[in-house]
This record gives sequence, C-alpha cells and structure tokens, in this order.
Amino acid sequence: MPKISRLNFAHLPTPVEALDRLSEELGRPKILVKRDDQTGLATGGNKARKLEFLVAEARDQHADMLISAGALQSNHCRQTAAAAARFGLDCTLVLSGDPPEHPTANLLLDKLFGAQIVYTDRIHRDDVLQQTYDDIKKQGRAPYLVPYGGSSPTGALGYAFAMEELVSQNTGADWVVFPSSSGGTQAGLVLGARMFGFKGRVLGISIDEPQRHLQEHVARLASEASEKFGKRNLFVADEVMVNAGYCTAGYGVLTELEREAVHLFARTEGLLLDPVYTGRAAGGMIDLIRKGFFKKDETVLFWHTGGSTALFAEQYSRDIL
Ligand SMILES: *Cc1c(COP(=O)(O)O)cnc(C)c1O
Repeated sequence: MPKISRLNFAHLPTPVEALDRLSEELGRPKILVKRDDQTGLATGGNKARKLEFLVAEARDQHADMLISAGALQSNHCRQTAAAAARFGLDCTLVLSGDPPEHPTANLLLDKLFGAQIVYTDRIHRDDVLQQTYDDIKKQGRAPYLVPYGGSSPTGALGYAFAMEELVSQNTGADWVVFPSSSGGTQAGLVLGARMFGFKGRVLGISIDEPQRHLQEHVARLASEASEKFGKRNLFVADEVMVNAGYCTAGYGVLTELEREAVHLFARTEGLLLDPVYTGRAAGGMIDLIRKGFFKKDETVLFWHTGGSTALFAEQYSRDIL
C-alpha cells in the first residue's frame, strides 16, 4: 500500500451513543448516534477528519497557506481556518454573502482564527475563488486549494478511515444515515464500507443536490479515492444510496422539517443539531421512521457531522424557536 500522509489532531475515535429516549418517542427502530460533532477542532464536525489528510497534503506540497470557499456560515471554512492556524499556515476564505456589521457564529470564528475573508455572491463564487488563487500565486505565495467542503479524493480518505473506526466499534448498525452535500463524507463511507467490510447500508440525505447528480458524484469520488490505496476500485452511481426528498427548500433554508428535528433531539436527548445539515438529515430520518422505511428490529446509526455553531448565527437563532 502506498504511504498516505496524515496528521493526527482530531479527537478519535468519536463515541457512539444510544438515543433511547428519541427511539422511544418515535416507537423504534433503535437509534444510535456517532459523535463526529465532537472531533475536537474548533467546536468539531466532519471536516476535521478530511483536514487531517488535506493539511498533510498541503504540507507535503510545501504550501504556506490554505485557500477555500463556501457559504458565509460554512462549517468547512471555520474548521479550515482553525487547522491553518494550528499548523502555522495563512488562510484566505472566499465566502458568499454580504459582510455583516457584527460577524456571528462560524464567521466570527473564521476571524478569530485570523483568516482573510473575501466576500462575494453565490453566482460569482467560483470565479472569485479562481481569481483569488491566481492573485495569491502571482505574489509568490504557495497556496493549497482546499476544495468546497474538503471533498477531494484526499479529503474523502478521512471518512474511509472513519468507517474502519465504526466497524471496529461493533455497533451492530444496519443503517448509517447522515447529511450529504459536497459528497466527500459519503464517498469515504462508501469506500470504507467496501474496504473494511461494513455490513449495513449507507444512506445519504441530500442537503442541496439532485439525487442522480449526487450519486454519480459520490461514485466518482469514491473510485478516485480508492486509488490512494494503490488499486482502483470502481464504484457506480446505482450502488450509492441517496434520498433527495428533503432538500427542495434549498440550501440553508430553515423549514418545519429542520426545526422539528432540532427541537426533538434537544428535548429528548440534550443533543444539539445544526439548522442546515444535521437538522435536515435528522428530519429526513425521522420522516422515514414514521413512514416505516426501517424495520422495527433494525438499528439506525445517525452520523452526527457537527455544525451546531451555526445555531448562533443571526438568521438561525432568530428562526429556530
Ligand atoms: C460539510 C458538512 C456536511 C456535508 O458533508 P459533505 O462531505 O460535504 O457531503 C454535513 N454536515 C455538516 C455539519 C457539514 O458541515
């Protein structure tokens, strides 16, 4: 097997806990949670696992700064800024949204970690990111471009190894359910499931992508990520399970689905979800449970990917109650 560069800063393994009161409230199946909201880097979340491989690659390439992009309240950008600070790299973030008078939540943390922010709008984000990258290179710097959501084949490795970790925890999970957006988490889980013999099903709840598009994207990423282990493993779209039935409101739009899920997890388990990702995915899971999608004797593991910092953003803290 070729050597895979990795840094070790995430708090691993993350615990698996039983959500007995939530299961009881919903009348089964048995529900577990994998606490990747507790990965340790800057309030935690799924990007920590990806960044262990991405920042290692940046250092191997002698990069002196990280550049990435996302929404104004991007969890990925917050953890990227923290990782940059931790390893002595500069960080520039291209964020879509208007600069607020008083930065809150993730954006506030980006600034505390010393990231330079370039504001743009959603339509121009790709172009502004490219322009920012080119300008920085022209200044003689050595930037490493962290892709949207950290979802390159390198980033996806974080979740291939996360699946190995889950398999070793012997949870008996028949299903793993989680939010899927830029696809790196799901690609890694799908690859890891095959490599490390996970017996259950891997179901991504789409946050903002049409089903077929996300299935194809995840299959491609998983195939490319497999090459890092020295031998290409082919994944096809049809074997990637995606439910895109809960994302019609659009990215970051809080509806009754997310609100109910956030409240239910909070009141039954004292557990915080986030309004954008885990709120939507848990809302989907709850709906699927109510519709009888899972068998009553099955065990469903909700993979908590973090993000609750966004609850403290102005727009969400106002609307979540
Ligand atoms: C980025 C993110 C996701 C989505 O992960 P992808 O790998 O982009 O599909 C899910 N949950 C949270 C909290 C995130 O920040």
